[in-house]
Amino acid sequence: MTETAPDLDRLRGGAPPRNHDARTIAALTANPGCARRGVMDAAGVDKDAVARLLGFPSPFGQSQFAITRGNAFEAQVKADGCAELLTLLRERLGLAVPEVAYDDLEVVAGNEGRELRHTRTRRLLARVLETGEGTLFDHPLLRLEIAGQLAYLEPDVIAFQVAGRLHVIEIKSFAVVDGQAEPEQVAAAARQAAVYVMALRRLVGELGHDPARVSHEVFLVCPENFSNRPTATPLDVRPQLAVLERQLARLTRIDEILGELPGDLTFGPGGDLAGSVRAVEARYAPECMAGCEMAFFCRDEARACGATGALGRSVRDDLGGVDTIGTALALADGSLSPSADLAETAAQLRTAARLREEALLVPQGGAA
Ligand code: SF4
Repeated sequence: MTETAPDLDRLRGGAPPRNHDARTIAALTANPGCARRGVMDAAGVDKDAVARLLGFPSPFGQSQFAITRGNAFEAQVKADGCAELLTLLRERLGLAVPEVAYDDLEVVAGNEGRELRHTRTRRLLARVLETGEGTLFDHPLLRLEIAGQLAYLEPDVIAFQVAGRLHVIEIKSFAVVDGQAEPEQVAAAARQAAVYVMALRRLVGELGHDPARVSHEVFLVCPENFSNRPTATPLDVRPQLAVLERQLARLTRIDEILGELPGDLTFGPGGDLAGSVRAVEARYAPECMAGCEMAFFCRDEARACGATGALGRSVRDDLGGVDTIGTALALADGSLSPSADLAETAAQLRTAARLREEALLVPQGGAA
């Protein structure tokens, strides 16, 4: 880790870091300009707990029923060294999988330490890349650099080797009915799988091999037609990979943000938690509601200060440089003189206000 690690420990208030997973990284890239989320995620702060302490609990998380169903389906697919999964891969997808070896990397000699597990993942993948030895690697523990910090990815996928190439297998419990699944769920699964493909490619590159040996084709395994029978669908995640690469590159570097924050800032319980959170700049947009645990707090804050972002990202972009709705209205009615850099935006706002007034003056039922 970098020299910022002690700062990040302090930000968590001594609590252990929360692991990233593919979902949190995929969501992180949805708002790459938000310093608040960047800092909290880089430090591994439990945002869900912080939001609850602030009185703005998030609605995220699956129901207990969905979790139980998902776990049962996964256990079934993986039973007996992934016997059912291999049948699927051989028969449904026509893949030639001659010999099978199954390695579970979740625990190493009774030790769940992440460094140890990551080391074993590296060793086994190096072996498979050099000798072709090994077929299924369950729970590979991968790492990805997020905003200048290494984040471990909690594994919920299988890396599958066939003909010298590695594929990611995602097991999901949403149903595929008549060959179709809910597009939003498939899109979310593809985004998450792309995170794993990227992390695997980085690891393969670090091991001195061509990252392209990790395929952009992933396999999505879901229950079929409301039964428990699994079906496998190949997914091409190249579009998701391209977006992810671009967004991760844009993430503001955490050490730059930390340098501008108070030296004693902490998100630990007690003290002025709301003040600490507000000390880190946020970029709220309604899209946050779908992907960030802090969304209710940030929405409340954005509304209270009349931030233009609360109206949507496109409105904020159109009003570039005008941070609050009050300023936008004052520029529109001419009660505020714009600075030179806002002159063009102010002219557009005045035009929009005039057009609105004219439209409101048109009598009902026809043009004037
Ligand atoms: S909800 Fe808040 S912290 Fe999360 S991404 Fe949006 S603005 Fe940032």
